[in-house]
Amino acid sequence: MKNRHLTHQVDVAGVKIGGDAPIIVQSMTNTETADYRATAAQILELAEVGSEIVRITVNNNEAAKAVAKIKELVEKKRKVPLVGCFHYNGHQLLRDFPECAIALDKYRINPGNVGFGAKRDKHFEMMIESALKHDKPIRIGVNWGSLDQDLATKLMDDNSKLASPKSAEEIMLKAIVQSALISAEKAEEIGLAANKVVLSAKVSRVQELVLVYRELAARSNYVLHLGLTEAGIGLKGVVAISSALSILLQEGIGDTIRASLTPRVDEPRTQEVALCCEILQVLGIKAFNPQVSACPGCGRTSSTYFQKLTDDIQNFLQVAMKKWRTDYKEVENLKVAVMGCIVNGPGESKHADIGISLPGSGESPIAPVFIDGEKTYTLRGNNIAEEFKQILMEYVERRFSKS
Ligand code: SF4
Repeated sequence: MKNRHLTHQVDVAGVKIGGDAPIIVQSMTNTETADYRATAAQILELAEVGSEIVRITVNNNEAAKAVAKIKELVEKKRKVPLVGCFHYNGHQLLRDFPECAIALDKYRINPGNVGFGAKRDKHFEMMIESALKHDKPIRIGVNWGSLDQDLATKLMDDNSKLASPKSAEEIMLKAIVQSALISAEKAEEIGLAANKVVLSAKVSRVQELVLVYRELAARSNYVLHLGLTEAGIGLKGVVAISSALSILLQEGIGDTIRASLTPRVDEPRTQEVALCCEILQVLGIKAFNPQVSACPGCGRTSSTYFQKLTDDIQNFLQVAMKKWRTDYKEVENLKVAVMGCIVNGPGESKHADIGISLPGSGESPIAPVFIDGEKTYTLRGNNIAEEFKQILMEYVERRFSKS
């Protein structure tokens, strides 16, 4: 599945976004950028799990000074395009720290936060001039939490004079779309090519996000970065992000995605990348990791063994993939099934590349293993998990070996 919304293609240090390029995953660090070692380490962690571009905040002189060092540390290990996120003082930082402007591969500009009144256009122009000078693409990143208040106020005033005024919510969504499009047009007027511009317009409610992006896709050919802002924590955030992004991706809208998930204190930042990868994988857009199908379990499941085995296999694959990814070609397409009993177990296992159907309560204590649709082994006893993993490894070696 690829975009039906035809966009320009933007090149971010060799990573192509839009046009006929595959949809790419992005993320953002939450370390203090001035702490260049911690930031470089987190960028590498995010890239390791699938983030193809990473954004870092550049909010003060110390952060701007750290950018080139971060880039140097990251590039010792791998190439990861870096995006600088600017608010309020981006025009000064890009002007005063040319090594930062050079090291960054893209600038994120929030048109609601570039300055107020007469200064807004001047500051915006300075940032576009920096992008032109250093030949960098930009993202015009509108966020409803920091919407251009002058524009919003003007649209509200105009609306109030209409015979049948629209709701405040409708006008706000209109302001978000207009802010993105007007800023992109201004950037082009200053001299930036359309294929140097990415747009995003993030809101935190699913239905509004869908309306905003449908409008952007209908009214422009700019590359679109999708994200539901301030999505929240835990299950609520995961569901909201997955719902919003899936609707739009299914409609062919979106060239790059980010999951703005709030991590719990003990959760890794990489979760947001894992979520994006899962969304693209379950939609059949791009494969990142082997998929484990498992039934939910029910009264027929015997004890908690089935849940433990599913978790065990999922973790085993996650760890194994660190090596498999380089050793085996297209192993990310592997499909595994772990099923709780004979009701759907053999059927689902046959649909997978390799599957196991555990004995449900009252069934004989045997676990048939299906490989490429054929019942190939029957496991018994206390060592089913380890034996199944061994069979899995042998299957991967046989099926995905590069030689
Ligand atoms: S496969 Fe068996 S254990 Fe799993 S949900 Fe269906 S009936 Fe229950």
